[in-house]
Amino acid sequence: MKKVVTIGEIVVEIMATTIGDGFLEPISLMGPFPSGAPAIFIDQVARMGQPCGIVSFVGDDDFGRTNLNRLRQDGVDCSAIGVDPDRPTGSAFVRYRDDGSRDFVFNIRHSACASIAITAEAKALLAEADHLHVMGSSLGSGGTVTAIRESISTIKQRGGTVSFDPNIRKEMLGLSGMREALEYVFSETDLFLPSGDELYLFCNAATEKDALLQILSCGVTAVVIKRGAAGSSFFDAEGYVSMSGFEAEEVDPTGAGDCFGGALVTCWLRGMAPRDALAIANAAGALAVGKRGPMEGAATWDEIEQFLLTRQGSQ
Ligand code: ATP
Ligand code: MG
Repeated sequence: MKKVVTIGEIVVEIMATTIGDGFLEPISLMGPFPSGAPAIFIDQVARMGQPCGIVSFVGDDDFGRTNLNRLRQDGVDCSAIGVDPDRPTGSAFVRYRDDGSRDFVFNIRHSACASIAITAEAKALLAEADHLHVMGSSLGSGGTVTAIRESISTIKQRGGTVSFDPNIRKEMLGLSGMREALEYVFSETDLFLPSGDELYLFCNAATEKDALLQILSCGVTAVVIKRGAAGSSFFDAEGYVSMSGFEAEEVDPTGAGDCFGGALVTCWLRGMAPRDALAIANAAGALAVGKRGPMEGAATWDEIEQFLLTRQGSQ
């Protein structure tokens, strides 16, 4: 089986228990939950039984330990997660607004995540990897970008593949070097996983169809569009397949895109037909939104199959 590696932030998430605008007054909070887009992604891959690991850094604190415990327990190779004694584990505070949008306060760039680099342990992990997944949210710090560039070149030299989820938060778009880093990763991407307007980030198109055609002409092998509750679509040189989402009670949408991506990449690496891959990834996304906490809803292969059995014919 192919080994999947990702590189980027491991953080805890602390979420507001009430809906409202931002964090300008004292409000009640819940957490810490293991989090970080690459960490959620790789946890989903591990739970599906695919060999996988992550290159990252945490602090020598409980926020780091809660993440390490969870990732290890779920089967992620944690050998390339360094512990920085001088910086705390990263964190993200999140609060939902009435319209479903979110406000974040991030402590990532100045946390242990700032130490992310290709250490000897990271080199060893990458030397046995077949596939690299990159999250746009990891491109906010220069050190991580350098490490991602190095990882991409190692993977490509090994004949491996790269998937890319732009996963851009409005709070991050203005960061210096972000645009260049996004463009670079896109230029090396085999499997592209945008949601919403991210489809149009790297092309000049007015319609979805034009955007898809332009993206394929840039050397991308396949594009998978995430459409929230509406489901997802797969496009490659063979054609276009779309599948509606499963009905699910949305307890907490954070992490749905990352779990969807982990499941989709796993299916793609196993050579599954697009329709089957979309069904499994939509199920992983639906299961993820049903649980509070970004990584809490990552499901095993068995749980996904059970879900699909109970939902057959309901799409
Ligand atoms: P995130 O906001 O976490 O980055 P995303 O925008 O990358 O997520 P979404 O499209 O929100 O990704 O969700 C990914 C997938 O999860 C969807 O394509 C769908 O299959 C599933 N999903 C998301 N929300 C729901 C929902 N409310 N009900 C059912 N399925 C959902
Ligand atoms: Mg979303």
